[in-house]
Amino acid sequence: MISGRYQEWAEAGMIKIPITMAPPLRQVNSYLLRGPEGVTIIDPGPRTEVTEKEWEAVWKELGIHPGDITSIVVTHHHPDHFGLAGQLQSLTLAPVYMSARAYKEAERMWGTASTVNEALPTLFRQHGMPDEWLNQLPRHLNGFIPQVSPFPKVTIITEDTLMTMGGRHWEPVMSGGHAPGHISLYNRDKKVMICGDAVLPQISPNISLLPGSETHPLNSFVSGLERLGTYEVSMAFPGHRSPFDYFHERIRSLIQHHEQRLLRMEQLLREESLTGFQVCSAVFGTKLGIHQMRFAMSETLAHLLELVRQGRAAEEENTDGTGIRFRVLQQSYGVL
Ligand SMILES: [Zn+2]
Ligand SMILES: [Zn+2]
Repeated sequence: MISGRYQEWAEAGMIKIPITMAPPLRQVNSYLLRGPEGVTIIDPGPRTEVTEKEWEAVWKELGIHPGDITSIVVTHHHPDHFGLAGQLQSLTLAPVYMSARAYKEAERMWGTASTVNEALPTLFRQHGMPDEWLNQLPRHLNGFIPQVSPFPKVTIITEDTLMTMGGRHWEPVMSGGHAPGHISLYNRDKKVMICGDAVLPQISPNISLLPGSETHPLNSFVSGLERLGTYEVSMAFPGHRSPFDYFHERIRSLIQHHEQRLLRMEQLLREESLTGFQVCSAVFGTKLGIHQMRFAMSETLAHLLELVRQGRAAEEENTDGTGIRFRVLQQSYGVL
């Protein structure tokens, strides 16, 4: 019998372990699967003193020795999922499985050769973000490094890698937009999808334009949703909040949410041409902490560039040459 803190789905051979992370999300779901092949941990969470203690409590409560862990699987490179993988690997010597693209993104963000601290403020400046925000970015970004240190030694998986976890076979399903190279895991027998942040209940996963990463993240996200929607899913196990049984309905409402947001931004541009930051302020407001502002700005740019990709808007240089504005293309009727 396990405590109420951990929820078990015996049907899928899984235990959901809530791991603490920073607000506003506060919790990430790790999943632990036990089978003849050993113990698998999916998305161990960010590395902090609190989460290391939480895992010690897990070993104790579930009667697991770190040496029993035979694999660690990471759905995507974000610190709240990937962060502890390296530390957990040093304790368990287990392989850490993730996609090549996801690992490349981790390196782009926090690897020793990362240039994101210069590239992200440059991108945001070009799109009109004022210095008071830009100046906070490097410190904010550096704050994640301890959460993802040390990096694990990674074993690359692709969609062709059949994973065995909890005594069952799982097929990796790749998607992008929220995080390039994101892997969901599908069990065909039980029609169960472990979906990381590709599909979340209640929350709309953040879509980010990031320098050097995906050129059209929103298009990539929507294609990923359409692809995930082709799987028959009776229960979905997300990276945040509770498992849910309305996978297809959720996919439809996420697609609709983004269509509506594209229309809203197109309408704003109909009144006058605007910088990315002006659109961001109109849609998300400015009473945000730096973390949320960074997400809001990246998401706004992802939407604006999607309008451009669809031929509904165009980018133009500011007349004083200080950056870029977006203007609507009058021929557009706002139909997707
Ligand atoms: Zn994520
Ligand atoms: Zn997450």
